[in-house]
Amino acid sequence: MPSRNILVINCGSSSIKFALINEHHTHTTLIGLAERLGTADAQINWQLDGEKNHLSVPNADHRAALAEILPLVENASGGHLDGIGHRVVHGGEHFTAACRLDPVSLDGIRALAPLAPLHNPANALGIEATMRLYPQLPQVAVFDTAFHQTLPPHAYRYALPEYLYSEHAVRRYGFHGTSHRYVSARAAEMSGLELENSSWLVAHLGNGCSTCAIVNGQSRDTSMGLTPLEGLAMGTRSGDVDANLHSHLVRTLGWSIEQIDRMLNHDSGLLGLSGLSNDMRTLQQASSEGHAGATLAIEVFCYRLAKSLAAMSCALPQLDGVVFTGGIGENSALVRSLTLTHLKLLNLKLDEPANQLATRGAAGQINAEGHPRVLVIPTNEERQIALDTLALLDA
Ligand code: AMP
Repeated sequence: MPSRNILVINCGSSSIKFALINEHHTHTTLIGLAERLGTADAQINWQLDGEKNHLSVPNADHRAALAEILPLVENASGGHLDGIGHRVVHGGEHFTAACRLDPVSLDGIRALAPLAPLHNPANALGIEATMRLYPQLPQVAVFDTAFHQTLPPHAYRYALPEYLYSEHAVRRYGFHGTSHRYVSARAAEMSGLELENSSWLVAHLGNGCSTCAIVNGQSRDTSMGLTPLEGLAMGTRSGDVDANLHSHLVRTLGWSIEQIDRMLNHDSGLLGLSGLSNDMRTLQQASSEGHAGATLAIEVFCYRLAKSLAAMSCALPQLDGVVFTGGIGENSALVRSLTLTHLKLLNLKLDEPANQLATRGAAGQINAEGHPRVLVIPTNEERQIALDTLALLDA
């Protein structure tokens, strides 16, 4: 049988990320981004076998952009496209694993819009468009939340009145599940351990950041909650704050809910603390040149991350290793080093030369000898979505 090709699609409210994944090739032949959809500046940028291409598609919506993207995919796959895997942000309690897409499951995704008002409607738009354009092709939804459906109640319930959970679905869901699942499986593979008999702490540190405790291949706790705002300090998100901050800002500054939402999601985190940037590279550079705000932002980021990892360790029977992934986790030796200085009680210690070498997509083991394993593992959510899609095609 020839090796199969899966198109992986991640639709945002005004963007579509796409990648063509072959089941047997580790490199991605076609990868691209359609952005500013619905505006005069709408455009598609893609790389085919490393070569960059650009197309202006003024005022294109999701469907119009996909109509341009799909022939590129057909072409790159030599006419052998076997299925489409869609990243869907919120699966609620209903979707505990990836599922085949049909009108019923699509309705289920739409119905979860109150839990992810920005993301799920955009994901549904992309699914609808590809189902219309390619009705004969099997399509699968892979949920960011599904991996965390194994959390026990003591980890997923908030200490709030029961009816908010039972009648209004207010609970901790967790996100980045595809990445946590992928890198924990790779960690077990790299360490010669069985995933089903191993325990990991994972720090996914990109623009959004979360930690996860993974036992025997299952998520047991994670730092994000009802929404992706809970937990760590992130690029522009505050992470945890005192819940009374809302009423404090209403009372003292007369702020609206929209203003508070915006401040916590878009003006906080590394950007808010530094007053400079949400980008860790920029902050590291500025800090080395004496920018006090950048230095503080990095220190808060690492301390909060260490506290979260220590908290996640409560869910583990033993520690087989800590995994760093995501743009910051994979590349910032400084963040890894500063974070672990706060975790001496877990006996964690780095081999600094190995830590400095683990950048730009290089996986590696970076702990000092005699100390618990610390791994840097590049995440690959697209590949995991393609693997899930293939598994459902085979089922
Ligand atoms: P992601 O969302 O996974 O692409 O991660 C984005 C974050 O990774 C941004 O904060 C980048 O500044 C950070 N990042 C990427 N490369 C590096 C690097 N070499 N050193 C430090 N941070 C980096």
